[in-house]
Amino acid sequence: MRGYLPDCDIRVPASLAEALETLSREPGVWTPFAGGTDLMVVYNAGRLEATRFLDISRLPELGGIQEDSASLVFGALTTFTDIQNCRAVHEHFPNLVKSARATGARAIQNRGTLGGNIVNASPAADTPPSLLAYGAELELVSPRGLRRVAYDRFHLGYKRMDLAADELVARILVPKPPGRSFHYFRKVGTRQAQAIAKVCLAAHARIEDGLVADLRIGLGSVAPVPARARNAEAAIIGKPLAALPIEAARAALLDDMSPIDDIRASAHYRRVVTRNVLGHMLRELANG
Ligand SMILES: Cc1cc2nc3c(=O)[nH]c(=O)nc-3n(C[C@H](O)[C@H](O)[C@H](O)COP(=O)(O)OP(=O)(O)OC[C@H]3O[C@@H](n4cnc5c(N)ncnc54)[C@H](O)[C@@H]3O)c2cc1C
Repeated sequence: MRGYLPDCDIRVPASLAEALETLSREPGVWTPFAGGTDLMVVYNAGRLEATRFLDISRLPELGGIQEDSASLVFGALTTFTDIQNCRAVHEHFPNLVKSARATGARAIQNRGTLGGNIVNASPAADTPPSLLAYGAELELVSPRGLRRVAYDRFHLGYKRMDLAADELVARILVPKPPGRSFHYFRKVGTRQAQAIAKVCLAAHARIEDGLVADLRIGLGSVAPVPARARNAEAAIIGKPLAALPIEAARAALLDDMSPIDDIRASAHYRRVVTRNVLGHMLRELANG
């Protein structure tokens, strides 16, 4: 049965402090509501148990993109459109722009938020692989104060996160890559728009003196959580661009994935295509 709006309670806090006070007074009772693009789908399908929503969408403390010399700091309410409209994101984090462009279509991009994409915790979401590749950190806020969590430690299992019932994601901090950088993003879906990823791979490499000094690869849709491809990374880090062990990295990648069969693709397809995308990424890296 579809959800019935009159059964719902929607509270609009006047400040972040009031929002946090509400969450901590009745932990687990109030569900934060940002853009609502994930929540409304589940609600409309009658599969959302929650009936009490805390509308955080207008809290100025959670908005905006700030730049300093070392990083960009995204408020959790940053939308996919905000990302595409920000010059500094284009300059430093082109994968994030590509992720935002690949998300849904215009209406979803105008309303859906980065914080919502992270906390909805779909393994197939589009910004998490890029956030993993860029070494993002999350700033979580509660009445106890702020704490930071490396994004690659945030997802603990399918839809389980290092996030307490009275915490909100406040900001996403992404360090600017130093030196010469390589960026790569590839989403494989049924269409270019309005398609959930069958496979997604984002990568960022730092190049020094013809060597791959550092490499982070984020994967989507091939594990219960958005995941780093640590085995494939290890096969490449420290190697010269002129002689990358591409086949060894493709073999190592198998240990980074645990894909499932589902309505969008088989586990076999995901293994084959992710390894092919990795091969394409590494050939582009080798070719400068
Ligand atoms: C038609 C359609 C197409 C879509 N296509 C894509 C796609 O291609 N790629 C993709 O990745 N996603 C897609 N989505 C999913 C969705 O748009 C994104 O996940 C979006 O980022 C969710 O953000 P939101 O602000 O709307 O989240 P909401 O629906 O408001 O919230 C989602 C979850 O996050 C929690 N939450 C939100 N903000 C915070 C916060 N600051 N702190 C703590 N908890 C919070 C909420 O309580 C809820 O559990 C699509 C959705 C639709 C309806």
